[in-house]
Amino acid sequence: SISRQNAIQAVIDGTYVEPMNYIDNPVTEFYGCNVFTDEVMKARLPKNTYKSVKATIDAGSDLDLAAADVVATAMKDWALEKGATHYTHVFYPLTGSSAEKHDSFLSPDGEGKCITEFSGKLLVQGEPDASSFPNGGIRDTFEARGYTAWDVTSPAYILESDNGTTLCIPTCFVSWTGEALDKKTPVLRSMQAVDKAAHKVLEILNPGEEVTKVTSFAGPEQEYFLVDTNFFYARPDLISADRTVFGAAPVKGQEFDDHYFGAVPARVLNFMMEVEQECFKLAIPVKTRHNEVAPGQFEIAPVYETANVATDHQQLIVHIIKATANKHGMTAIFHEKPFAGLNGSGKHLNWSIGNTTQGNLLDPGKTPHDNLQFITFCAAVISSVEKNQGLLRAVIASASNDHRLGANEAPPAILSVFLGDQLADVFAQIQSTGKATTSIDGGLMNLGVDSMPQLPRDAGDRNRTSPFAFTGNRFEFRAVGSLQSIAGPLVALNTMMADALSSIGSSLEAKIAAGSSIEDAVFATVKDVMDESGQIVFNGNGYSDEWQVEAAKRGLKNLKTSAEALTEITTPENVAMFEKQGVLSKVELESRQNIYQEQYAAKVNVEANLTERMAETQILPAAVRYQTELAENIASLSAAGVEGDKSALVAVTGQIAALSSAVAKLKEIRSKHIEDATEECVYYAHTILPAMLEVRAAADALEASIADDLWPLPNYTEMLFIK
Ligand code: ADP
Ligand code: MG
Repeated sequence: SISRQNAIQAVIDGTYVEPMNYIDNPVTEFYGCNVFTDEVMKARLPKNTYKSVKATIDAGSDLDLAAADVVATAMKDWALEKGATHYTHVFYPLTGSSAEKHDSFLSPDGEGKCITEFSGKLLVQGEPDASSFPNGGIRDTFEARGYTAWDVTSPAYILESDNGTTLCIPTCFVSWTGEALDKKTPVLRSMQAVDKAAHKVLEILNPGEEVTKVTSFAGPEQEYFLVDTNFFYARPDLISADRTVFGAAPVKGQEFDDHYFGAVPARVLNFMMEVEQECFKLAIPVKTRHNEVAPGQFEIAPVYETANVATDHQQLIVHIIKATANKHGMTAIFHEKPFAGLNGSGKHLNWSIGNTTQGNLLDPGKTPHDNLQFITFCAAVISSVEKNQGLLRAVIASASNDHRLGANEAPPAILSVFLGDQLADVFAQIQSTGKATTSIDGGLMNLGVDSMPQLPRDAGDRNRTSPFAFTGNRFEFRAVGSLQSIAGPLVALNTMMADALSSIGSSLEAKIAAGSSIEDAVFATVKDVMDESGQIVFNGNGYSDEWQVEAAKRGLKNLKTSAEALTEITTPENVAMFEKQGVLSKVELESRQNIYQEQYAAKVNVEANLTERMAETQILPAAVRYQTELAENIASLSAAGVEGDKSALVAVTGQIAALSSAVAKLKEIRSKHIEDATEECVYYAHTILPAMLEVRAAADALEASIADDLWPLPNYTEMLFIK
C-alpha cells in the first residue's frame, strides 16, 4: 500500500526538535513564571485586597466585588505584560475535557481607538453560550443559561501556544438553577465535606488541640502511548477512536520486558523535556518520567497537590503532552487500550487527606498499632470502600477503560483494599481481640554483599494487582483510566470518606459520652468496622482466577462492564450519601448517569462504524486484490501447462468469506434500536462488542496471510517500534 510505505519513509526522513538546553535556561528561573501565584499577588495587590483574597482561598470567605475589581486589574496588567491578548474562563464539562471561550481584553473607546479592560465582574462570573455541552436533562436548550464562576483556590495562569497567549481562569460551570454541569464543582464540594467530617473526628481524638482545615491530596501517575504522526494519520481508527480496532499481534511484543524502565529513546526524551519545561512554567510539579511496560508506552507523574489543583493540573498535563507531541511529530494516545495484546494505560490516583496541625492522616508511623489517629482514618477508608464498591466501580467506568479492567494486566473490576502485611495484621488483631498491641517490623534486608549497607525493609510489600492499595502513607486507586479526568474518582473518594468519618465520629462520640476512654472507643469502633467491612481487605493476587471465586464467596461486587457499573451512580444508598454530604443532588447524579451512559453508547457506536467501514473499504479490497493476484497466478501457470498450488488461494478465499459474514452479522445486529439507556449499554457491551471482535479476528487473520505490500494499514510493529 502506497500510503503505508509513504508513512514509513516520512518517519525515516523526519527531522526532529533539538534537545533542550537547561544550562542557559535554568528551571529555577522560569518555574511558575506563567502563574498568577501568591507571590505575584502579594507584589501587585494592595495589602487589604491581598488579605481578603487569601482569606477566600484559605478559609472560603466571600470576596467582595470591589476587591475582585482590584484583582482583575492586577491580573490583566500581569497578563498583558506576558503578551496575553485574551482571557478565558476555563471550565471542565462532563465530556471530561477542558472547555474555553476566549474574549479579548480590548474594548472600543468610542473614539475610534480602544482600551484594555477586565473587571471584577468579568473575573468572577462568565456566561458562556454553552447549550451544546452535555447536561443530562438538567437544562433544555431553550433555557440554556450556564454560568462559569471563578475558583479562587486554583491559580490563574497564562497558556502560550502558537495561536496566541491567553490568560486562563479556572472556573466552576453551573446551570441557571445552580446545578453542577461540570467536574470541578463536585470536587470542591467533596473537599468541603471531607474537611467537615474529618475535622469532627480529629477534635474527638485530640481534645483541646488545635485542628486546622483538612485537605484532600492527589498525585496522579499518567500513562500514555506515543505513535509517529505519520502512522497515526494512516489509521482511521486511531484518528476517530483513539484505539486500533484492527491489528494482528506483532512478531515481537512486550514478552522480553525490555521496555519497562529502559533507556528512553532520544526523540522521546526531547519531547519529555519539553513537556516538563511547559509544566514547570505553569508550576505543575512533574517529577517522574519513565518507559512503561508496552513498547511505545510512557509515564509522567507530578508530585501530589491539593485535589482541586491536582485535577486542573492533570487536565493541563494531558493538554501539554498532546500539543508537545505534535511539535515533535508524534501523537500521544491516552486511550486505556489502544493496542490489543499489549499492556494498556491507567492513571494511578494516589490519594490522602491531611492538615497542618495533625499532618498526613494516613501516615501509620513506625508502629501503627498504637497510632489511634491512623487506625481511625484507615478504618474509615476500609469501611467506605466496602460500602461503596459499586460507586468506585462506576466512577472508573468508560467504554475505553472496560478493555483494560480485568484483562490480567490491570486491576480487576472487583474492588478490594490491599493493606500490606503490617497493617493487615494490626486490623486482624483488632478484629479478633478488640485491640492491637504489636506491629510487625520490616527489619533489615541483607544484600549478601559485605560492602553494601544493610537496608531497612518496608513492613509490607507492594501489591501491583490491587485496585486500591495502601502504599505507605496514602492509598493508590489503580483502576482509574488513563483517559479519565481524576475528578470523578476524587469526588467519590472524598464523599465516601466523609460519610464513613461521619458515622465513625458519631460512634466515637457516643462511646466516649458513655464513659469509654478515647482508646477504647477507637478500638471498639474499628472492631465494628472490621466485622462489617473486613471482607473488603484482600492482600493476595488480584489477577488470579481464584480471587474471582473467593470474591464471589465474600459477596463482593463484580461489575464486569460499564453497562452494569454506571447504574450504581443512582442507587438509593448512593443518592442518600451524596445528598447528605452536600456533594451532588439526585438530579445532578441522574444527569451524570445519563451522560455517561450516552457517552458509552456513542463511543462503542463510533467503533462499530469504524469496524464496518475499515473492513469494507480497506481490508476486504486489499484481500480481494491478493485473491485476484493468486487466481491470476494459477490461471497463467495453468495456461503455461503447469499445475499451480491452490492452497493459498483456497485459504484466503475462506478468510475473505469469514470476514464478509462477520461484517454482515455486525450490520444486522446494529440495526436494532433500543430506547432505554441502560438496556442499550448492555446490548452494546454484550452483543455489539463481541460481534466487533469477530470481525477483528477475521481481519487480523488476513493481515497475517496476505502480501505485506498490499496491506493498507500501518501494522503494530511499525506503530510501536518505529520512531
Ligand atoms: P510509584 O510508581 O512507586 O507508585 P511514584 O513516585 O511514581 O510512585 O508516584 C507516586 C505518586 O504519589 C506521586 O504523584 C506522589 O507525589 C504521590 N504521593 C506521595 N505521597 C502522597 C500523599 N501523601 N498523598 C497523595 N499522593 C502522594
Ligand atoms: Mg504508583
